[in-house]
Amino acid sequence: MSPEQFSAAVLDWYDRHGRKDLPWQQGITPYRVWVSEIMLQQTQVSTVLGYFDRFMAALPTVQALAAAPADEVLHLWTGLGYYTRARNLQKTAQIVMAEHAGEFPRDVDALTALPGIGRSTAGAIASLSMGLRAAILDGNVKRVLARYVAQEGYPGEPKVAKQLWDVAERFTPHARVNHYTQAMMDLGATLCTRSKPSCLLCPLQRGCQAHMLGLEIRYPIPKPRKALPQKRTLMPLLANRDGAILLYRRPASGLWGGLWSLPELDDLHALETLASQHALRLGSRRELGGLTHTFSHFQLAIEPWLIEVEAAPNSVAEADWLWYNLATPPRLGLAAPVKKLLKRAADALATGEP
Ligand code: SF4
Repeated sequence: MSPEQFSAAVLDWYDRHGRKDLPWQQGITPYRVWVSEIMLQQTQVSTVLGYFDRFMAALPTVQALAAAPADEVLHLWTGLGYYTRARNLQKTAQIVMAEHAGEFPRDVDALTALPGIGRSTAGAIASLSMGLRAAILDGNVKRVLARYVAQEGYPGEPKVAKQLWDVAERFTPHARVNHYTQAMMDLGATLCTRSKPSCLLCPLQRGCQAHMLGLEIRYPIPKPRKALPQKRTLMPLLANRDGAILLYRRPASGLWGGLWSLPELDDLHALETLASQHALRLGSRRELGGLTHTFSHFQLAIEPWLIEVEAAPNSVAEADWLWYNLATPPRLGLAAPVKKLLKRAADALATGEP
């Protein structure tokens, strides 16, 4: 879609489905739009509704806000959280009174210079209350546009943010910019939602790259995760003559707490100690093919070895150790990679292949 087709589709949707009854959409002034935008930054519309009305009833103008006791402003904000927003609100009101003769500047850069007003909030104030052609890129709009153009890269990176701002600027129309801005925010909040976008109802469906690829949820690309530290361990699968594998129960707390697992060794030399601990006579051994398991804080590279046990006592002397019969497995809680390795061991023992 061309930028004209894009904005026409958005405006047409706004005429039919856009929200027009929100309190800050009535008696529109820069002051009302600004307060609502700041309230909406980290808070849902449904929560903001009551707060906005109370705030406006107590402090109906920028003059009133500038002159109010700080405690009164914080009191009106109580429950909304992120109190820096309330403090910045009053600071900005005082600057507007002192430096702009009580009028919000009609310019995005000058608005952005005020405390607590970022580029997107400035764009919203300028477009919604002043009718100026200014783009916005709040969380909802970012999601819509990132999907529409299938934007690669994490939008928190300056280079990617700039590309998305360029898209936002390109699509912002010259006429009815107030309705367009409102519609884009509504689209993101109601149709192009984080986990279940309603693409079939979306006016942008025809040109949306993410939708065409069937990859809506992939965008916006999430923050890249830091590379996790790596650890490695050797896990012996000691198989006795009955085809049972020696397992032990991990301590109740910590990793895989209370689950049954394979012994973890630093290297093959440590096998001797394990064998003498359980009075085992070891036979041939073969590698089973490595496995990597990811925990939240590290990755564990597992080197599994299938080791035949030629002689072993009939039962395991120590509590929390047992022979796990692969043919008639007891019902035990097993750590996920251990379950996988037991399956591999069963296949290897059945076929004689690693
Ligand atoms: S088509 Fe789907 S993914 Fe694309 S903008 Fe619309 S709702 Fe979002």
